[in-house]
Amino acid sequence: MENELQSLEAEARKGLQELTDAAHLEPFRVRFLGRKGAFSTIMRQLGSVPAEERPRVGQLANTIKADIERLFEEKKEMLSAGQGRRGVTTPDLSLPGRWPATGRLHPISQVMEETCQIFEGMGFSVAEGPDVELDYYNFEALNIPAHHPARDMHDTFYVSDSLLLRTHTSPMQARIMEARQPPLRVIAPGKVYRCDSDITHTPMFHQVEGFLVDKKVSFADLKGVLTVFTRKMFGKELALRFRPSFFPFTEPSAEVDIACVICGGQGCRVCKKTGWLEILGSGMIDPEVFRMVGYDPQQYSGFAFGLGVERIAMLKYGIDDIRLFYENDQRFLSQF
Ligand SMILES: [Zn+2]
Repeated sequence: MENELQSLEAEARKGLQELTDAAHLEPFRVRFLGRKGAFSTIMRQLGSVPAEERPRVGQLANTIKADIERLFEEKKEMLSAGQGRRGVTTPDLSLPGRWPATGRLHPISQVMEETCQIFEGMGFSVAEGPDVELDYYNFEALNIPAHHPARDMHDTFYVSDSLLLRTHTSPMQARIMEARQPPLRVIAPGKVYRCDSDITHTPMFHQVEGFLVDKKVSFADLKGVLTVFTRKMFGKELALRFRPSFFPFTEPSAEVDIACVICGGQGCRVCKKTGWLEILGSGMIDPEVFRMVGYDPQQYSGFAFGLGVERIAMLKYGIDDIRLFYENDQRFLSQF
């Protein structure tokens, strides 16, 4: 009897699955659940089951019947709901299609990836480091000892006396040079943090650090690498201008400007009528930094640069407020 119950259950479930027309509901009910239906018929045989088995088999039969009744009621409701809105169940082929919303990379991620690709094309490898950094790598190893006035320029978020949120990606220079020997060609993209916020500054932003160390590396190599980068990034030949500057970890140091991508050097609102836009800081790695990681400055030389990813993205796409990158407005993001 147990086997019969199980095959009846399977049959009823299959019947319900195939039931798609409200007109077939009643015949199904009569066949399986009615007073003369299959379940009632089988229940009548319960008397022939041995007495000790009877409670268990009886319970099984009741459970199965209750299940089928429940499924039947659900089906009935579903089919009658469909009937109430006749025509809705069959699709209207004349309706316009709905496009699924597709995600895409954030413009900052796109520019960061593109930056990495351009430098990888010149033989640089990519390295990433911690956002929570030791004071040592963020400052000391980069020739910025405690009480150095350059620390004031960084508006640092401190976690503790010796831990901070890195204020630039330059700590990767020290970390990598400490662990490896020249020749080195590395870029380090990532998030950096400074306690600063207005239309051109956000407390968290992105930088790509790059450096190259080898024998006889000169400032001309730096110029060559950056020229290739700006041409590829902005898709055209742009004049570069190097302005003397100061960073404690490079000597000499230079800020690098490109001819304004908006006006081509004629002077406009974006470049404040100068025809130039500042895009990065760079220089020849200071011998003091080499000494701290154990390189011989007589033997090796190298250059380093750090570029702001938001800055590049703003210039590349003509965006005038850095905060747009972080508002997550779909109308803004879907343009890239
Ligand atoms: Zn301009």
